[in-house]
Amino acid sequence: MRATVMYGAGDVRVEDVPDPRVQEPTDAVVRVLRAGICGSDLWPYQSMPASEQGRRMGHEFLGVVEDLGAEVSGLNRGDLVVTPFVWADNTCDFCAEGLQTSCRHGGRYGFDDVDGGQGEAVRVPQAKGTLVRLPVGEDSALLASLLTLSDVFCTGHHCAVTAGVSPRTSVTVIGDGAVGLSAVLAAKRLGAEQILLMGRHTQRTDLGRRFGATDVIAERGEEGVQRVRALTGGDGTHRVLECVGTKQALQTAFGVARDGGVVSRVGVPQYDEGPIGFDMVMRNPTLTGGAAPARAYIEELLPDVLDGTIEPGRVFDRAVNLAGVPDGYRAMTDREALKVLIRA
Ligand SMILES: [Zn+2]
Repeated sequence: MRATVMYGAGDVRVEDVPDPRVQEPTDAVVRVLRAGICGSDLWPYQSMPASEQGRRMGHEFLGVVEDLGAEVSGLNRGDLVVTPFVWADNTCDFCAEGLQTSCRHGGRYGFDDVDGGQGEAVRVPQAKGTLVRLPVGEDSALLASLLTLSDVFCTGHHCAVTAGVSPRTSVTVIGDGAVGLSAVLAAKRLGAEQILLMGRHTQRTDLGRRFGATDVIAERGEEGVQRVRALTGGDGTHRVLECVGTKQALQTAFGVARDGGVVSRVGVPQYDEGPIGFDMVMRNPTLTGGAAPARAYIEELLPDVLDGTIEPGRVFDRAVNLAGVPDGYRAMTDREALKVLIRA
């Protein structure tokens, strides 16, 4: 089959790889219908050292079950399924606590002889615990929105949930990428009335307004902090959703948080130190967030996608076929595309 392999920064190829097949009785093989390029795929695209064997890419996909191991119950060949961006047994103690990203028998796509999602098919380990059946057909108009349950919308939702967003909280979202816009939609869904979106790309912030942002702040750094404070009576917001991952974004997040507020971060951190000193202690902030256990959220979010209450798939503004994936990476890196959908 054909699949995406990254060989180093800026070097993504689509090439022949071995066909996936059931290896363990807990595996399934899924033929991919839709996949996504993730903002987190762009970090290695910008920094990965050259490698001879390369690395299989992609962890957001949905598709059709083609084959099943003997121990996989609850799924049938021909089922349309979506996967969270990590696979998990969904039965261990961490999974029972809703933290499938820490599953004792789980792992990541594209590592340890497991396929990536940006290809024609994927061997899915722990298929029973991992895959969620979708009650739609292969020609459903909802596939793009359903695909966001793999990662990007669940990540925005996780950011809002861990921050404690509710109808009683004001919210700032930092970042107008696909995760930031998803966080706006998630905050709106959880009832927030004031949602301030910090971002400077008008096309993206316009979608943010449609998703529920009440104000857009284009300024960055200290200027952006002052703008948010001006819009909130000088105090900042109760909840801050940091969806960028840079140190500056984290500093801005603490800057716009109301005293006693919560900062949740879901961007892949490109820093290893942050503002944790005396000033912060006096202001009583909480820092939370992390990798989203998408598997814990899919069933809860699915009905709202199926009935059209939310359309998280609007973050996809470009579609390519598998051969177009290298150009999709380039387009997202050059900020030509917000998020790229891969159609089989
Ligand atoms: Zn588990």
